[in-house]
Amino acid sequence: MPPRILALLLVLLLAACGVTEESPPAGEVRGDTFDEDVQLAQTHTEDYWRRQFAGLDREYRPVTRFVPYSGADGPACGGQPAVPDNAFYCPAGHFIAYDRGWMEALWNEMGDGSVYVIIPHEIGHAVQAQLGTVFELNVQQELQADCYAGAALGAMVKAGELQAEADDDTELLLNLAAAGDPSDDWFNPQAHGTAGQRQQSFAAGYTNGAGSC
Ligand SMILES: [Zn+2]
Repeated sequence: MPPRILALLLVLLLAACGVTEESPPAGEVRGDTFDEDVQLAQTHTEDYWRRQFAGLDREYRPVTRFVPYSGADGPACGGQPAVPDNAFYCPAGHFIAYDRGWMEALWNEMGDGSVYVIIPHEIGHAVQAQLGTVFELNVQQELQADCYAGAALGAMVKAGELQAEADDDTELLLNLAAAGDPSDDWFNPQAHGTAGQRQQSFAAGYTNGAGSC
């Protein structure tokens, strides 16, 4: 997931939290450090999916590992090497890996909400794999992962596990204007969706839950 997409997800989180320009808080949680936030995001998101699966009489299979890496030393996935400045779900090993320095820099620069959108999005891909969902287009898979992330975030906020605080800056909001794919290029195998599409998907999950995704 390239940084510009993360930036978009951040604005989605802010929008979903009912943020206005007068008081633009970031997603805020009880975690005090980056590593605590990563751990809380994993735990709460997987707890959410455990409950969702249980409601369908299915058993959620937790991701086997969350693997921090640095630069180019990440774990390969199905023969593909990990790349710097990224986070990804690997179906072959049912694990999630993330460039720790990259994600911590985002956490520092853009707020801790960053972790709470990246991790739920990647866990969303793990859920798709377990459900065996088949997609014709990459963009559909990505937009559903955004929707799943919104659903998990919405549940966390409703449960009081995630709180908003009012100390974010307008620079973040300005940076977000450039987020999303530059065009509505659905057939591009790398497509994640335009800013509007991603926002819509995230908001749908946030508001209506995973069943709407
Ligand atoms: Zn994705």
